[in-house]
This record gives sequence, C-alpha cells and structure tokens, in this order.
Amino acid sequence: MGTKGLPTNGQAPEDFETRMALLREEMVQRQLIDRGIRDERVLAALRKVPRHRFVLPEYVYDAYDDGPLPIGACQTISQPYIVALMTELLHLQGPERVLEVGTGSGYQTAILAELAREVYTVELEADLLERARQVLTAMGYNNIYFRNDDGSAGWPEAAPFDAIIVTAAPPEVPPALIEQLRVGGRLVIPVGSWDQDLRLIVKYGPEPTDSTVQSITPVRFVPLRTRRYEGA
Ligand code: SAH
Repeated sequence: MGTKGLPTNGQAPEDFETRMALLREEMVQRQLIDRGIRDERVLAALRKVPRHRFVLPEYVYDAYDDGPLPIGACQTISQPYIVALMTELLHLQGPERVLEVGTGSGYQTAILAELAREVYTVELEADLLERARQVLTAMGYNNIYFRNDDGSAGWPEAAPFDAIIVTAAPPEVPPALIEQLRVGGRLVIPVGSWDQDLRLIVKYGPEPTDSTVQSITPVRFVPLRTRRYEGA
C-alpha cells in the first residue's frame, strides 16, 4: 500500500482521518464540482460521509479515486460522480421517504440518509446487507430500514415513496417500482444489459403510464438479478 504518499503505519488515527478528509475534499472539487454537480446539499453529504469506511480494507487508500471499486460478491461500490449525479436527480429536500434497490456497500445509503427523512434499502446478497448494516449502524444512522430481498418487487408495505434509486441495471424498468412511486415522485435507474442508459422517471399522475422518461447519460452497472432466475 502506501500509495498517494499516505503512510500505512505509525500514524495517529486523527492524522489518518485528516488525510482522508483532504482526499474527500479533493474528490468533491475535481470529480463533482468541476463536472457540474451543483446541489449544495448533495455536495455537503459527499463531503461528510467517510467513503473509506465502506470499501474493503485493501482499497481504503483508493476510496476517493475516480471510479468504482470491488466490494465482494462480484459487486462494486459506484464511482463518486455517479453517486452524486443520481442523488442530485432525486431533488431531495429533507422530508422524503426514499427506496434504494441495491444496498451494496451502503455508501449510497448513507448519502441518502443524510438528505432524506427515511431510507428503505433492499439488497439481494445477505452478506453485503449485513456488512452495510453494521457500518451504517456504527456510524449512528437511525433512519435506515434494511431488507434482504429481490428489490425489483420494491417494498410494498412501505410504499409509496417520494424517490426511488436503483443501483443495479435491469433490462427494463420493473413495473412495481413505478407503482410504488408517489405522484410527483422521482425514480433514477440504469436500464439495459451491456450498454445501459441512466433514466430519470417522474410520475405526474396515478397511473403507471402517467410518467415522463428522460435519458440522462450512458452508464455501466452490475445487472439487477432476480431470485426467479437464480432458482432460489
Ligand atoms: N449503491 C451500491 C451499489 C452496489 S452494486 C454501492 O455504491 O455500494 C449493486 C448492488 O445491487 C449489489 O450489491 C447487488 O448485490 C445488488 N442487487 C443486484 N440485484 C438485486 C436485486 N434484484 N435486488 C436487490 N439488490 C440487488
């Protein structure tokens, strides 16, 4: 290790956290502000949440790099810019209840928990969910609800949601997610198999067809898997 001039031993914990805070500030400036992220609340959340706590120990010094990283179970923690972009598209003001599909490392979950009243997060992989739960609980978040399930069915008991974010890509938008969106709510989701399209769906009426779809940018996420296909 020892990349980026960071000593790996003999370092006081407060020095380590100070270094990490500096890397985080640089990330916010170069990767987010310079690329057009403007929402001050989103920028403040990415400035605050210690991303290095959500990566595997061997990647701690890479946590603020401009890209995704492996988190185990063949999954990845999303690139900081994509986390910021997707969060900004949700237009969170504070009072919202948000559904997240694909907890993964729990990093995006923490960002949402900073910006909304309640976060309902669903993850298919039990091990990843447990690790995320431990990290987020240790950090003191008490507005997050966890569920080990196939998130393409949403979370019917907790619906409707003001905002829904999906961080794994289905071939098509799962209808349950649009159904569980409140009128006026926003859904941000990558769609497609290999070449994916990040979409913003805004629901303006009670019917699932009462929604506008906007194509934002090409992206590459891991596939949204379903229990059905896996025979579980
Ligand atoms: N936001 C996460 C992204 C993790 S990658 C982060 O930044 O860490 C996507 C995650 O979606 C993986 O953890 C994967 O296990 C999960 N996933 C895939 N299919 C799913 C499904 N049908 N329901 C819930 N989670 C799913």
